[in-house]
Amino acid sequence: MLIKNTMILDENLNIQEKKDIRIRDGKIAKIGEQLSFEEKEEVLEGKGFLFMPGLIDSHMHTGQQLLRGKVLDEMPMIWTRVMLPFESTLTEEKMRLSAKVAALEMIKSGTTGFVDAGSYFMETAAEVYEKSGLRGALSYSTMDQKGLPKSIEDNADSAVKKTDELYESVHGRGNLKVYYSLRSLISCSEELMEKAAMRALEKETMLQAHMNEYPGEINYFLEHYKMRPYEFLESRKLLGENFLGAHSLLLSEDEMEILKERKVKICHCPFSNCGKAAPKTPQLLKKGISVGLGTDGTAHGGMSLWNEMKIFRSIVNLVQGVPLAEPKIMPAGQILKIVLEGGAKALNEEGSLGVLKEGAKADIIGIRLMQPHLLPSGNLVNTLVESVNAGDVSHMIVGGELLMKDRRVLTMDEEEILFEAAKYQKGELGW
Ligand SMILES: [Zn+2]
Repeated sequence: MLIKNTMILDENLNIQEKKDIRIRDGKIAKIGEQLSFEEKEEVLEGKGFLFMPGLIDSHMHTGQQLLRGKVLDEMPMIWTRVMLPFESTLTEEKMRLSAKVAALEMIKSGTTGFVDAGSYFMETAAEVYEKSGLRGALSYSTMDQKGLPKSIEDNADSAVKKTDELYESVHGRGNLKVYYSLRSLISCSEELMEKAAMRALEKETMLQAHMNEYPGEINYFLEHYKMRPYEFLESRKLLGENFLGAHSLLLSEDEMEILKERKVKICHCPFSNCGKAAPKTPQLLKKGISVGLGTDGTAHGGMSLWNEMKIFRSIVNLVQGVPLAEPKIMPAGQILKIVLEGGAKALNEEGSLGVLKEGAKADIIGIRLMQPHLLPSGNLVNTLVESVNAGDVSHMIVGGELLMKDRRVLTMDEEEILFEAAKYQKGELGW
């Protein structure tokens, strides 16, 4: 494929004009000017568009896709009152529809890669995601806490075995990977934590967990172990560069040092996090810790990372920038880097994803610039963060395959999926 005469966001986050991008074997083969057309090459006219790396959602929940609109303004604890009862009654049909709508929402929002935090019937979700062409990491929801609903009750060995099986059948299929997961530390026994961590290392894949999200979680560890959650994991030697800690909000100075020392990767989910705490991102970045952004799934305000970037900028600015009178506490270029490079690291693809450069994987999106809310712009990098929305993403290419052209999704039947989603909303599907 050849994208002709377009504007690009290069690897240093500078804007370059009148560039051609040649894509071959799933990668960006060449970026140049007036590249000559080669036989059998599909040509995409790039004039009026900005091509940039696809966004990466470092933390989402396929299994909560059908909870859109059911969480906002709810009383605590949302996990025990809403999420857990819903997820423990998931069925294969519900997961298939969830994955279809989630994939469609991501494609139409410019998200080319994602890390699913783990749910049930993940083989079914994998079938859908493989067909969608998206790049993603999937997990099985892993916990062995006593008192869980019967349908999801488990022990350490059987919980780990479920991810083993998912790994065998899904890892490496299409653009998909499988990660081990710990739903949250307080829902997992020490035995389960150790077994999941060991298996992730054996398979050379990542281990993810919801971390340092609630005061109750921190208090539990202080009460039982006289340690904070990351200190506990460190004491059990379970942390390393293959660990992805979602949220990671309530961090002590010592915990941040542990993250740095062990090269742990983290991500924040701004809209969802606003009900809990403001992230300490400037301090984390200063220590060289890899930070990504996630949406926490559709139940928490949808899956547009464009929205998350705006909320993230606002919250960090309000909580840290304003008290210091420091307007550049979280500059636009840094926010894009967090989503793109931090996301690439969350997907264990440092250097091969999240950058538009020769040799990188061709996961890119085209933004339609000729619109009154985007033009004219005195600084397009700022405009990407403060004004671009999901609906401005016109084209998407993942691994060299065109998934969306002029906002028409090519790998999925959008009309059919929306028809089924509307039927679900009206309760006409009987499930
Ligand atoms: Zn989550």
